[in-house]
Amino acid sequence: MAVRARYRMRDYTITADPVTPATYQAVCVTGEDADCGADSDHQETEAAVERWIAEHTRDTGHDFYRRARWDYVKAEPGAWQ
Ligand SMILES: [Zn+2]
Repeated sequence: MAVRARYRMRDYTITADPVTPATYQAVCVTGEDADCGADSDHQETEAAVERWIAEHTRDTGHDFYRRARWDYVKAEPGAWQ
């Protein structure tokens, strides 16, 4: 016997928060068995995270990173479909 479920769908408007600035972060994922894991923590600018990457590469020779831009958004529920 098949079980069926019905879900009501709703539209959401997602917009960038104008007050909270985005941050930038990089994590060193160099390594064969395990990632290095060194973390830049949250930086205020992309240039700052690139500077952190350059310094980490200079100091360790590591050359592979996961980089992210973290921004903040507001979600407002809209009409039901
Ligand atoms: Zn590293």
